[in-house]
Amino acid sequence: MYDYILKGTIIDGVSSKPIDDGLVAITQDKISYVGPSANFQLAEDVPVFSARTILPGFIDCHIHLTGSEDAGDPGSKASFGDSLLGAAYQAGILLDAGFTSIREMSEQGLYLARAQARGKLRAPRIISGGRCLSVTGGHGDDGPEYTKEEVNKKSSTSILCDGIDECTLAARMQFRKGAKFIKVFATGGVSSPTDNLDDIQFSFEELEAIVAEARRHHSYVTAHCTGNEGAYQALLAGVECIEHGVMLTQREIDLMAEKDVPLVTTLYVSRLCADLDGPDWFKEKAAKCYTAHVNTIAMARKAGLCIALGTDFSNSHNTPYRHQGREFEAMVASGMTNLEAIQAGTINAARVMRMDDQIGSLESGKLADIVLLDGDPLTDIKVLTDSVHVAAVFQSGRKVK
Ligand SMILES: [Zn+2]
Repeated sequence: MYDYILKGTIIDGVSSKPIDDGLVAITQDKISYVGPSANFQLAEDVPVFSARTILPGFIDCHIHLTGSEDAGDPGSKASFGDSLLGAAYQAGILLDAGFTSIREMSEQGLYLARAQARGKLRAPRIISGGRCLSVTGGHGDDGPEYTKEEVNKKSSTSILCDGIDECTLAARMQFRKGAKFIKVFATGGVSSPTDNLDDIQFSFEELEAIVAEARRHHSYVTAHCTGNEGAYQALLAGVECIEHGVMLTQREIDLMAEKDVPLVTTLYVSRLCADLDGPDWFKEKAAKCYTAHVNTIAMARKAGLCIALGTDFSNSHNTPYRHQGREFEAMVASGMTNLEAIQAGTINAARVMRMDDQIGSLESGKLADIVLLDGDPLTDIKVLTDSVHVAAVFQSGRKVK
């Protein structure tokens, strides 16, 4: 028996062509049929939803559930409780935009992941890494006006650690709170005031220690990388995923291909930062990134890397969750096809989540995470950029929009 029937053009996340006049059947929390509607014997009294296009639920591999624009900043007046409640509300906006699963980096995400898993929160499924590990003065440091202790007490997004012992402890503290992976800042970045884009931030020995700790937890380390030398070192130290990869060269791309390391995109934010106003140091850094980032994507496509959608959105003024799908459009602007961009935000992202046996495509037996869309994203990728085009969303078979 079927609980819901969905009809429309199916983009299943894995096939090279859509199924016109397709049908998806949902039974309890799973997909029980995907294929042409002509082959399907329709029972009476089952709710039928029709849409222009049926897609797998979208997956964002790089997002921050910090609750407000300034919640991650030690200077912010928002308390942790305030920002946690803000994030709990805002997570629902992601569902409305079609995102049924996310990979997240913040303190708040650790709590929200558990609430969502218990069925107590209207939110995407959350895999959280907790706070990101940074060296003092690195990309996760809010600047010398705060002490290291102040940053570590107040930041929602970073923990400063120096030397093998502190690095090991910082990783253990994230796992203690429920982190499913560890993110490190392996290089400088655009938004940090005291570093350069191509600074190598952790030593090789520190990275090795963090990787070893993650493996003891049957987990892995992913690395924020803007400059290429830090990315190269991170790959040699055993990091298993690269975030941004803005200035990668062929050497790092080849090593990623050899080790089967995926790349998480965040292209929209790179393009956005180039146009933002800010202090001189910010504008100088941002101006160097977008063209380099597009070049990385071209090399990654050519090498056949797994490219997965990541937005780096935090529901700030410039990164509103209702427009989470802007990353699809940014990927197409960088040279990817519409279908490649859709697969980056579905099946490839499921691989980075390490859940591709359960989510990421419309296939019989997988969890029924499904988006019904008003429009055809294969001819107009912009229909994915605004939650108004997302007509309905199913998550584990439940209609949540
Ligand atoms: Zn980020």
